Amino acid sequence: MKSHAKTVVIGGGVVGCSVLYHLAKAGWTDIMLIERSELTSGSSWHAAGGFHTLNGDPNVAKLQAYTVQLYKEIEEISGQSCSLHLTGGVMMADTPERMDFLRLAHAKGRYLGMDTELITPSEAKAMFPLMDETNFVGAMWDPVEGHLDPSGTTHAYAKAARKLGAEIVLRNRVVELTQEVDGTWNVVTEQGTVKAEHVVNCGGLWAREIGRMVGVELPVLAMEHMYLLTEPMPEVEEFNKSTGREMIGVLDFKGEIYTRQERNGILLGTYEKACKPWSPVNTPWDFGHELLQPDIDRIAPSLEIGFKHFPGIEKAGIKQIINGPFTFALDGNPLVGPVQGLTNFWCACGVMAGFSQGGGVGLALSNWMVHGDPGFDVWGMDVARFGEWATLRYTNAKVRENYSRRFSIRFPNEELPAARPAQTTPLYDTMLANNAVMGDSWGLETPLWFAPRGSEPKDVVSFHRSNDFRPIGEEVRATRERVGVTEIANFAKYEVSGPGAEDFLNRLMTNRMPKTGRIVLTPMLNEFGRLIGDFTIAKAGPRGGEDRFMIWGSSAAQKYHMRWFEKHLPKDGSIRIHRFDQTLVGLSIAGPKSRDLLQKLVDVDISTKAFRFMDFREMAVGGAPCMVNRITYTGDLGYEIWMAPAYQRLVYKAIKEAGEEFGLVDFGMRALLSMRLEKNFPTWFRELRPIYGPFEGSMDRFIKLEKNDFIGREAAAKEQAEGPKLRRVSFIVDAADADVMGDEPIWAKVGGKDYGTVEKPHGYGAPRFDAGGKEVRGSNAAEGASAVRGIVDGDWRVVGWVTSGGYAHYVEKSMAQGYVPAALAENESAGLFEIEILGHRRPARINVEPPFDPSGEKMRT
Ligand SMILES: Cc1cc2nc3c(=O)[nH]c(=O)nc-3n(C[C@H](O)[C@H](O)[C@H](O)COP(=O)(O)OP(=O)(O)OC[C@H]3O[C@@H](n4cnc5c(N)ncnc54)[C@H](O)[C@@H]3O)c2cc1C
Repeated sequence: MKSHAKTVVIGGGVVGCSVLYHLAKAGWTDIMLIERSELTSGSSWHAAGGFHTLNGDPNVAKLQAYTVQLYKEIEEISGQSCSLHLTGGVMMADTPERMDFLRLAHAKGRYLGMDTELITPSEAKAMFPLMDETNFVGAMWDPVEGHLDPSGTTHAYAKAARKLGAEIVLRNRVVELTQEVDGTWNVVTEQGTVKAEHVVNCGGLWAREIGRMVGVELPVLAMEHMYLLTEPMPEVEEFNKSTGREMIGVLDFKGEIYTRQERNGILLGTYEKACKPWSPVNTPWDFGHELLQPDIDRIAPSLEIGFKHFPGIEKAGIKQIINGPFTFALDGNPLVGPVQGLTNFWCACGVMAGFSQGGGVGLALSNWMVHGDPGFDVWGMDVARFGEWATLRYTNAKVRENYSRRFSIRFPNEELPAARPAQTTPLYDTMLANNAVMGDSWGLETPLWFAPRGSEPKDVVSFHRSNDFRPIGEEVRATRERVGVTEIANFAKYEVSGPGAEDFLNRLMTNRMPKTGRIVLTPMLNEFGRLIGDFTIAKAGPRGGEDRFMIWGSSAAQKYHMRWFEKHLPKDGSIRIHRFDQTLVGLSIAGPKSRDLLQKLVDVDISTKAFRFMDFREMAVGGAPCMVNRITYTGDLGYEIWMAPAYQRLVYKAIKEAGEEFGLVDFGMRALLSMRLEKNFPTWFRELRPIYGPFEGSMDRFIKLEKNDFIGREAAAKEQAEGPKLRRVSFIVDAADADVMGDEPIWAKVGGKDYGTVEKPHGYGAPRFDAGGKEVRGSNAAEGASAVRGIVDGDWRVVGWVTSGGYAHYVEKSMAQGYVPAALAENESAGLFEIEILGHRRPARINVEPPFDPSGEKMRT
C-alpha cells in the first residue's frame, strides 16, 4: 500500500467506486480507495438493482439520467457487464390526486428532456399483465427505468477506475483520521497510515462512524428494507415468449410497493409504514455480507394491497425474502460535497438509490474536487443543506417519516410533522395562541398564516387553492392598506468585522459596499460567474475602530454560505465572521402606517428624511436594544427590526399595543411571499440558483462590473457582453383554482423558431409496446391528460420553466416567475405564452413592471 496519495476514498460500495472512477477520469490518478472488506461489503451487494430517473428535485433527476447513461461507458472501459435491463416502467395512480402528482412530474420532464408519457391503466396492463387495472385511474410511463446487477456494476466502476490508474486496497479498515497543521490528512488504517490531501467519506452504512472520526455527526440513518422473490411464474414465461420482451417495472403508490421481473419470476419490494431503523446509534464494524431477519408481519399491509392490485403475483410461491439495511438522509437525497468547517473532507454518502444516483454523485463530486465546482445545481444533495439541528434523534425521526412516506404525495402546502417543534423563538407560544399555522423553516418553527379565530389552525393539503387562501388575502390587504407585523427570525444573519472587512466583502460581492448607516442588496457569484448568494448588507458604526457589516441572507443556505466565506477568509485571522443563527431574531412591520407605529416606540426621528429608505440604525425599540433596517420584502414602506431573543417578546408586545390604533394585523410567511410576487422580487433557491448567471437572473442593477475584481467578475462581464441566453421574468397567469407551484413548463407560440433553451430528449429510452408487441408512442389517453407530448406541439414549444409563483392577493392576480429565452423576455403580448398547471395549459403574459407600486414610490416615501 502506498504511504501517500492525493486522495483517499473510504469505502468500496457502488458510490465509492463511482467517485474513484470519476476522479480518475478527470485526471486525478494518484488516488486510492480503501475498503474494510471486499468491494460491495455494505448495502450494495443485496440491492434490488432497480434504477429510474424521476426525482422530486429536477436537478437530482438530471444526475440520475446521467447515471443511467453511464453504464454503457463503464461496461466498455472495464469489460465487465452490468447486466443492464432497460425495461421502462410505469407509476400507477389510484386517485385523482395521485394523477395530479403524475401530471406535475410529467410536465417537469418536458424541459428536463425526459420522455415520460401519461397512459391509461389498460395500456399499463398490456406491459405488465399481472395487474388488475381496475384499481387505477391512470399511469405515467418512463422509458428510462430498469434494473441491473448491483455487484457487477460496482465491479465495473472499480475495474474502469483501475484501468485509468486508481489503486484499490481491500481488507483494510480505516480506523482513525487526523489532520496536520498544513491540512494533510493522516488516514490511519489497519495496514498503516496514508498521507492524503483529500479524504472522501463513501462509508455507506458506516458513513456516520467515519464522520465521527472528524467530529461531525452526519444526518444519515440506515433503515431495514425488504423485497421478496417469487418462484418462477408461468405467466411471466408466457409473456416473455409471446412478446419477446421482459415485463416492465411497476410502482404502486397505494401499496407502497415496486415490482418487476426477476429471472422467470417477480421481485416485489415495499416501503412500509411500520418501518424500522437498523443500528440507530452505532453501526457494528463486524457487520459483513449478512442479511437481516425478514419480518413479514411488518410488510403485510403493503402485501395485502399489492396482491389485490397484482393478483397474478399472489398465486406465486415466495422463494426468498431479502431484508437488508441501507442509509437515508432526512429528505431521502444524498449528502455530497465538502463539509463546512473542515478542509478537504468530502462526503458522498446517504445515497439511498446508489444505482440511480451513484454515477451523478461521482461526477458532481469529482468536478467539485478537481475544478472547484460541482458543475451542476446540486443543492438538493449538498451536505450543507442541513443545520446543527439535524442531530442523531432528529435524523431518526425524519428518516423514518421520509421512508414511510416515500410513495406518498407531498402537497405544495404540506408541512411534515416529525421531529417538530425543534427550534422555537420566544414568540412561539404567542403565535400558537394567535392561531398561527406553523411551518418548518430550516428547523425553526415559523408562522405561515393565521387561521380565523374559532377555526382549527391547520392546512387542508391540496394542489389547488386551499383553506389558507382567504385568510392570507386578509393579511395581505390589511398590511398593504394599514400595517402588519411578522416574525423574520428565519433569515440568516451574519456579522463580518475586522480591519479588512470591507475589502473582503467587496471581493465576494457584486455590488459596492454601503457607507456607514446604509444598506445595499447584492448577489454573490462563484468563479464561473454563477449566482451563489443574494444578500442584504448594512454597514454598522465602527466598533473599536474596526469596520462592522451586518449581512442577511437565506436561512437554508447558512452552512453553504459559511463554507464559501471560510474558503475566502484571509489566513491571518484579521477578519471574523459570526453566524448568529437563532441568537438574533427579528420582527418586520410593513404597510403605510408602519412609520407612525414605529415612531411611537423609538426616541429618535424616523421621518422620511431622517431615516431614509435603505438606512440602517441601531436604536432602542419599545425599550429594547435593536438594529433597524428601513426595508421590507413586502416592497412597501416598512422596517426589519432585529434583537436578541431575550427582547423579542418585549418588542412584539410594544408593537401590538402601539399598533392597535392603526389596525395592526399579524401576517405570516405566506402573505410575505404573496406580497413579494406582486413586486417581481426573486427568492433564493427558487429564482436565484447556481445554474443562472446574474444577468440571466435579471439582477443587472446589482452588478457593478467596474467597481473591482470581484469573484466571478470576468465571467459576468462576458455574460453581459455576449448577452444572457435566458432571463428571469414575471408572468400574470390566467389560472383557475390552482396556481403554479414551481417547475411547470412554459410554452410559447414561436412558430418554427427554435430558441434553443430546452434540452433535447435523451434518446436512449426503451420503446413502449402494446400487448400485441406493437410499439406505441404518444397516445396520452389517460383521463384528463393534455393532448400533447414532448416539447413541441404545432406552433407551440416549451421554452422555459417556472421557478415559483402563487396568488398575489393585493393585485388579485395569479403570478409566476421563471426563465425564458432572453429574446422573449420583454414580449408582453397576450397569447404568446402558456404555463402548464396540473396538465392544463393556461394563458400567461409577461409583466415586465411589477403590478404593485411599479415606481417604488411607496417603499421610498
Ligand atoms: C434490500 C435493498 C434493496 C435495495 N434496492 C435498491 C435498488 O433497487 N436500487 C438502488 O439504486 N438502490 C437500492 N438499494 C440501495 C443501495 O444498495 C444503496 O444505495 C447503495 O448500496 C449505497 O452504496 P454506498 O457505496 O453508498 O454504500 P455501501 O454499499 O454501504 O458501501 C460502503 C462501503 O464502505 C466500506 N467501509 C465503511 N467504513 C469503512 C472504513 N472505515 N474503512 C474502509 N472501508 C469502509 C464498507 O465495507 C462498504 O463496502 C437497496 C438496498 C437494500 C438494502
